[in-house]
Amino acid sequence: MIIDKNRITILYDNNLYNRNLKSGWGFSCLVTFKNSTILFDTGADSDTLLYNMNHLGINPKIINTIVISHMHFDHTGGLIGLLTFNINYNKNMLLFFPSSAGNRDIKLVESLGILKQNIRIITKPQKIANSIYTTGSLGGFIKEQSLIINTNKGIIIITGCAHPGISYIVEKSIKLLKSNPLLVIGGFHLFGRNDREILKIIKKFKKLGVKYVSPCHCSGDNARILFKKEYGKYYIADGVGKIININDLE
Ligand SMILES: [Zn+2]
Ligand SMILES: [Zn+2]
Repeated sequence: MIIDKNRITILYDNNLYNRNLKSGWGFSCLVTFKNSTILFDTGADSDTLLYNMNHLGINPKIINTIVISHMHFDHTGGLIGLLTFNINYNKNMLLFFPSSAGNRDIKLVESLGILKQNIRIITKPQKIANSIYTTGSLGGFIKEQSLIINTNKGIIIITGCAHPGISYIVEKSIKLLKSNPLLVIGGFHLFGRNDREILKIIKKFKKLGVKYVSPCHCSGDNARILFKKEYGKYYIADGVGKIININDLE
């Protein structure tokens, strides 16, 4: 697989896009953008994560940054297995934890070889790589950070579970980068919500100028159906194995 392209590749999700891959409850995607190779979340287990990477021709050694959205197992579960495999090749691996990461989590990744100075506990929004930002840890009880890619056509917002509220995350990101939202992708956390509530969020998305949507993970089937109906050709069907070429988004 060519990794020198600006891409988002879904590596772990409960929805299957590529039938040759494995699905599981959780989320992980690989962002390759302007020489950065960032793994955003790690799914619930490294076996599935590494299996999918292998089948997509992605060598885990290429990852140089890991961002964990929040400390739920379906986003952190693959981390230890991945690091065990990866760390010998990337002595300078950067790891961005949300502010809810505890001392035990930090000690654990240190014991797996990540250098202390390369572990960042994120509270505030900040730049983490060339044209890539974190929203900072948002929300109350469940702290969660989302990833923002600043493209010349607008910002791409990637969410893990969107516990702080998907519209709130989008609003915060727009304010932070002062740019239009080109794509919102990831878990929208709308399962169990009724049509009226979901349609209200879709209306808000349109008001905020969100051009493309690609809900997966905890978005729920109902939200996926309604977003598809309302967004038409700007809805991007998603799941394990989906590759979004950022340069193709108009
Ligand atoms: Zn969660
Ligand atoms: Zn989740």
